[in-house]
Amino acid sequence: MTMSDTKQILADLVSFDTTSRNSNLELVSYVETYLARFGVASRRIPDLAGHKANLWATIGEYGDGGIILSGHTDCVPVDGQAWSTEPYALTEKDGRLYGRGACDMKGFLASVLAAVPEISRRKLSRPVHIAMSYDEETGCIGVRPLITEIARLGCRPSACIVGEPTSMGVVTAHKGGRAYRCSFEGLEAHSSLSPRGVNAIQFAARLVAIIDELGETLALGPHDPDFDVGHSTISTNMIEGGSAINIVPRACSFEFEFRNTADIDPDVLFDRIQQHADEVLLPLMRRKHPGASIRFEQIYEYPAFEIQDGHPLVKQARDLTGCNSRQKVAFGTEAGLFQRDLALPTIVCGPGSIALAHRPDEYVTIADLGACDAFIRAMCV
Ligand SMILES: [Zn+2]
Repeated sequence: MTMSDTKQILADLVSFDTTSRNSNLELVSYVETYLARFGVASRRIPDLAGHKANLWATIGEYGDGGIILSGHTDCVPVDGQAWSTEPYALTEKDGRLYGRGACDMKGFLASVLAAVPEISRRKLSRPVHIAMSYDEETGCIGVRPLITEIARLGCRPSACIVGEPTSMGVVTAHKGGRAYRCSFEGLEAHSSLSPRGVNAIQFAARLVAIIDELGETLALGPHDPDFDVGHSTISTNMIEGGSAINIVPRACSFEFEFRNTADIDPDVLFDRIQQHADEVLLPLMRRKHPGASIRFEQIYEYPAFEIQDGHPLVKQARDLTGCNSRQKVAFGTEAGLFQRDLALPTIVCGPGSIALAHRPDEYVTIADLGACDAFIRAMCV
């Protein structure tokens, strides 16, 4: 197998429009057929509606101690983006391969698949598992039933590589993420009689201020200088409420999110916010209107991920990639779920730059793909 195989496979993968809202089944069946050509059996773990599926395949003797090569099959939409190439047709120019998903993260999947013919002929010291998920871009949703299935199968892998774009750097940590919608329900009144109403916007604003104060506390530390923003953060990023200038608003809702480093417990952060709402604000609102309410709804969550710098998996990956710098990143991946739910040593390492992901004219360099091809072949022995 050569670079032209990786390129051809990447072109095939890019040609499937696997925007998260679409089915990924055509891509999945392409991969199944491809793997079968080399005697590699795979199985689907479908979503409830049967529109999408994860794929799980094993090369070598099934058993403990294997390595998981993991990637998501879905992509972000091209809607409203000004592409200068056709996003679903891989286009080569000046050592770069352009196309939706080329960087995030079909490039990695192509490298994995291109290595299959060679790896499947080897006498492997440990099994190689290929894990492909759906709905990563919408909150790491698809990989969860896949992880449940891996746990149910009872094989205990010993390492996982999540091939998100890191320009082949070895990433050892990312923050966790959570987002919530908070809805206040008060009581309408003519604005000239405002003391008779319960102003949902004003009560919501008090909670937004508490969230802001919490953010200032987080900024005091703990600090980790390996991140670009070296502490946990929290911010309110959406708000809506009210219906007219002369009506005391009955309803207001806002959305806030936090990004926590591994040493901050996101449950504790959320509890502090909810506690203030329930114990301080809600009694004040109910004094005037017993039907007043404050509701929280989680929009998404994914755990933080961190592996110790001295872990053998980190050392091995650094030796093989030649990339020795410490790298911790702001973006979230499925790595935190593999680590949390399977207690699995995990790194994030893949071709392409995250700075190009999700953008028009997304691309992966042929040099990065070549480095990834070599890395995968060296890891799977
Ligand atoms: Zn991705």
